[in-house]
Amino acid sequence: MSISANDPTRKTWLQVPENSDFPIQNIPFGVFLTRDDIITIGSRIGDTAIDLGALHQLGYFEGIPLTDDIFLQDTLNDFISDGKKTWRLVRNRIAEVFDANNAKLRDNEEHRQVVLFGLDEIEMQLPVQVGDYTDFYSSKEHATNVGTMFRDPENALLPNWLHIPVGYHGRSSSIIPSGIPVHRPQGQTKAKDADEPVFGPSQRVDFELEMAFITTDANHLGEPIPIDEAEDYIFGLVLFNDWSARDIQTWEYVPLGPFLAKNFASSISPWIVTLDALEPFRVESPKPVKKLLPYLQSSGKKSFDINLEVFVQPENGEETRVSKSNFRYMYWNMSQQLAHHTVNGCPVLSGDMMGSGTISGPTPDSYGSMLELSWKGEKPVKLKDGSERKFIEDNDTVIMRGYCQNGYRIGFGEVSTKLLPVFEPKKK
Ligand code: MN
Repeated sequence: MSISANDPTRKTWLQVPENSDFPIQNIPFGVFLTRDDIITIGSRIGDTAIDLGALHQLGYFEGIPLTDDIFLQDTLNDFISDGKKTWRLVRNRIAEVFDANNAKLRDNEEHRQVVLFGLDEIEMQLPVQVGDYTDFYSSKEHATNVGTMFRDPENALLPNWLHIPVGYHGRSSSIIPSGIPVHRPQGQTKAKDADEPVFGPSQRVDFELEMAFITTDANHLGEPIPIDEAEDYIFGLVLFNDWSARDIQTWEYVPLGPFLAKNFASSISPWIVTLDALEPFRVESPKPVKKLLPYLQSSGKKSFDINLEVFVQPENGEETRVSKSNFRYMYWNMSQQLAHHTVNGCPVLSGDMMGSGTISGPTPDSYGSMLELSWKGEKPVKLKDGSERKFIEDNDTVIMRGYCQNGYRIGFGEVSTKLLPVFEPKKK
């Protein structure tokens, strides 16, 4: 089935600001609370939010096999379970309804009143109930930088890294949408020259510039997903800030990997941009250095050209861009990650989230974490107000943005999160 929603020549009757991340060719999916405090599944064109529940009740999805309440839910999980064919039909239909030449909704004031909202009238929610969250470690530049800093520059990549998309299981309970602030975590740390650990606020709170993909029900227990089918089970992507406490991580991570350093919060952009919408921005993945085992050999363009940026904004201050990277730098692509994740028969379900791992590029201004940008604190990063950062300070806001551009622009909006001081229990 063709993706008519991607037609680059289509214009909409809605107002779309110039350079918007959300032209009519995007049509992302999200969940929001309306001005009447009703939760609904929606989409967005320009700065207009579209209530898909209302649109469905008014009959605009006639002819597409959807249950009556599919959009009247507080998560996208059931819609995602309906599968790729349905996602495509729905996106194509939304494109038709908002096409400049289609008068049906355009000229129906009463319908427009219940379907359309300004962004200031809605509150974005977490788009899916995340059953399981896995975080990969798939940027070669990032893994090399971290290996160089913490182990041995001569053997920066561990022997398995070029053969396996390395990952770990994270916690879904602390995945939060953009705008929800995060407290500086406390935990155990041990200074290099100290004999014993101490407890207290992390002194090295960091962001990780990542993207995450969201899956549909993919396989049953025991059944691997072949690499060439993996993309059929990927609904879409979001920006993903995987908050990290580097000092806690350094002390705790041997032998089983990161634990409390990583699971206090991960922030996501609230609109899921579908894999279909990203279709025009496909690029080749980097060439494998080692010959891969057959189940990881992927062919064709399985990566995507997505520009990524990170900004740090001090309280009441201006934003400074601290990093500019690209999703295409990922050594392991999403198909390889999903094929590897399921090769042992591990089931993947609707709403599962897979983090890419920190996306660092080849140059020092493209590194995806403060750990690398400040080279573990040795080279502080200058902000526009003259202050310096080795890591993230209390009341700083970290903002990540991402977009594709090639003739037209498909973007992700942003994930913006303020770091609050350590949590203080209220005095009774
Ligand atoms: Mn991570």
